[in-house]
Amino acid sequence: MGRGVAYSTTEPAHLLNVRAEGMSAWAGDPDSFTHRFEREGGDRRGFAQRRLFGRYLGEILDEAVASGKTRLIHSGAVSAACEDGGWVVRLDDGSAVAADALALGVGNQEPEALGAFGSAGGRFIRNPWAEDARAAVAELAATGGTVLLVGTGLTMVDLVLSLDAAGHRGRIIALSRRGLIPRSHADFEPAPVERADLPQGLRGMLRWLRRRSAEVGWRAAVDSLRPHSHPLWQGLDGEEQRRFLRHARPWWDVHRHRIAPEVARTLHDMIAEGRLEIVAGRIITARPAPDGLEVDFRRRGAGAPTTENFAYAFNCTGPLHSIARTRDPLLRSLLDAGRVRADHLGIGLEVDDEARAGERLWALGPLTKGRYWEIIAVPDIREQAAVVADDIQRELGA
Ligand SMILES: Cc1cc2nc3c(=O)[nH]c(=O)nc-3n(C[C@H](O)[C@H](O)[C@H](O)COP(=O)(O)OP(=O)(O)OC[C@H]3O[C@@H](n4cnc5c(N)ncnc54)[C@H](O)[C@@H]3O)c2cc1C
Repeated sequence: MGRGVAYSTTEPAHLLNVRAEGMSAWAGDPDSFTHRFEREGGDRRGFAQRRLFGRYLGEILDEAVASGKTRLIHSGAVSAACEDGGWVVRLDDGSAVAADALALGVGNQEPEALGAFGSAGGRFIRNPWAEDARAAVAELAATGGTVLLVGTGLTMVDLVLSLDAAGHRGRIIALSRRGLIPRSHADFEPAPVERADLPQGLRGMLRWLRRRSAEVGWRAAVDSLRPHSHPLWQGLDGEEQRRFLRHARPWWDVHRHRIAPEVARTLHDMIAEGRLEIVAGRIITARPAPDGLEVDFRRRGAGAPTTENFAYAFNCTGPLHSIARTRDPLLRSLLDAGRVRADHLGIGLEVDDEARAGERLWALGPLTKGRYWEIIAVPDIREQAAVVADDIQRELGA
């Protein structure tokens, strides 16, 4: 409870991708996690294990429960209906909860199904966070089988670290259209900018970023946009936002969501040892084969496809992009009943400035990325959580 996909990992090799000093859970108390991390011998500029951050969140939740104002229910919510000006949420054990206000904090949605693997059989792991993924990693560690990771972002990084930590010494191929992998954090001299000094429009922004990166370094240039990211995103029109998602997003993601230097070193060493290969290319099709699956893929720039056998393939393409395809029954029920609407980009829910998605209904975090874009990491979500909490209190007059 409280840890979600990101912080329920038990794997010591899984580190935060934000420095400890940026990870306080509280909008008004920036050092809350740093103090916790320093007690364990950590450095505020360092990258804590994600399982430690999970324990920190668990302690906060324990306090909330001990206060008597919070009750935890270990169930899945399967639907929500408006009744008598409030909400009735039905749970998968058949019970129901009545509430005056409903806040949706359901996080990222399971990855998109990959058409090319439609008939690949059980050796294709659809959800890298599910139980069958952990079992596959354990089996691979024992057999040393060759692995295909589809996607080369942060999910790929986690899988590679899990395989390495489990003792897998076989080959891993990680493939994506452009073969871009997350860049490493490093110290840099910040170069803050004023909102008024930034250009309007996507084209102007990209030109500015290139020029500024040459002057102050790309890390300083990218991070200087952080305090302005919500108004910048909202200043783009819908077509510019779509163009960003289609063309610029892979570059933005690898520069903006960086990995800890020690994680980058592990990947670098594995590439140098020939254990990990990053491929730019496309999957054509996959089919079951004895002890695994056979995959046809085309390397970027190569004419003929390559066919290779893998013991397992994992979907590492990251969270679902299209909210209309969510498999979460609660979201499905709200979308189908017209209680919430997909945002103009179809990547989350339509919300207003206070993150309201409907009558006495709020949405938080990744669900609201159509409106804010940069709203998937703790430093942004904690600010939003504070705004939503205030708004709920105002609405209910509590
Ligand atoms: C692998 C990974 C690593 C990350 N690392 C970092 C990091 O280092 N720093 C950082 O700032 N951000 C990181 N993030 C981003 C992360 O999304 C946020 O930090 C944060 O965890 C999002 O919180 P959330 O509460 O919105 O969603 P989540 O933490 O995903 O929590 C959602 C919860 O809702 C539950 N749920 C969903 N549907 C239902 C339902 N129908 N009924 C009942 N419960 C339901 C889920 O089981 C889960 O417990 C990472 C993300 C991932 C996936």
